[in-house]
Amino acid sequence: MSSTAEAPAFSLTRQPLEVRRRRVRVARIERITPAYRRVEFAGDDLAGFDSPGADDHVRIFFPPPGEPLPPAPDDGLPAGLASREYTPVEWDGAGRLTVDFVLHGEGVATDWAASAGVGDEVFLGGPRGSLVMTGSPAWWLLAGDLSALPAIRRHLRAVPPGTPVDVVLLSDDPADEQEASSPGDLGLAWVHPAAGAPVGDVTPLLEALAGLPRRDGDGFAFVAAEQTLVAPARELLAARGIDLQRAVVKGYWKRGEAEYHAPRPTA
Ligand SMILES: Cc1cc2nc3c(=O)[nH]c(=O)nc-3n(C[C@H](O)[C@H](O)[C@H](O)COP(=O)(O)OP(=O)(O)OC[C@H]3O[C@@H](n4cnc5c(N)ncnc54)[C@H](O)[C@@H]3O)c2cc1C
Repeated sequence: MSSTAEAPAFSLTRQPLEVRRRRVRVARIERITPAYRRVEFAGDDLAGFDSPGADDHVRIFFPPPGEPLPPAPDDGLPAGLASREYTPVEWDGAGRLTVDFVLHGEGVATDWAASAGVGDEVFLGGPRGSLVMTGSPAWWLLAGDLSALPAIRRHLRAVPPGTPVDVVLLSDDPADEQEASSPGDLGLAWVHPAAGAPVGDVTPLLEALAGLPRRDGDGFAFVAAEQTLVAPARELLAARGIDLQRAVVKGYWKRGEAEYHAPRPTA
């Protein structure tokens, strides 16, 4: 929040949700860019699916490589399935759900997404809970890498017409730049690591954040990428007068570590 004594323009509230196991099949796959796949899941189990928070995640449980998805016991999931966290991008509550996968190299999820075909099945769980915004920030600052782009797209949809929204997106390869749109007054910049930098290097993202224009009023920030971003991003946001209790700053993955779990839901 800005340093004035005005009432906050918005608040974030955690809302628990009933967790259900859903068995779904791939209905459509779209290659968005070389490292970005859009997968549309379908299935009767998706009836009633909802995801009220922009950075909600579902846990996707994948079959063992080359094997079909096993049946599930009545009270849970088959033992031993690997799972990872993904953002619901779009859904209709009546049997369709879209998820975007970064193809980043090697990993259970990226391997599955790279080779998935129509009819392949996975289990979904969640979202367990949502961070729901009420009110209307004076401005928005959204920043992240390709893994955070689905959540950023969801935030962008929620920005009211005319409200300033500054967005910084990071991709290792310029070929993965994509369009993004918002009813808000959108300023979008793509940044890329220097040649020879480690995969997912957050340095250009932090530099771009530091160079953004300062805005007055009670703004909201969402920042997510490789986890080394978290501490310096928090410092940068605090220096801009952003209330870290109402910002979301998350590590979505960790270089060199499989199945990294974001340790905290909010900054
Ligand atoms: C709340 C939340 C929402 C998320 N939403 C999405 C989403 O919608 N789409 C999406 O693509 N990802 C999303 N992620 C990130 C995703 O969960 C991780 O990238 C996950 O590790 C991928 O699993 P994997 O099996 O492919 O790789 P893992 O087996 O977990 O890791 C294998 C190797 O790949 C590296 N690695 C993992 N992810 C990346 C990456 N993105 N770029 C480069 N290297 C990587 C690891 O450091 C490790 O060395 C989200 C994460 C969180 C916490």
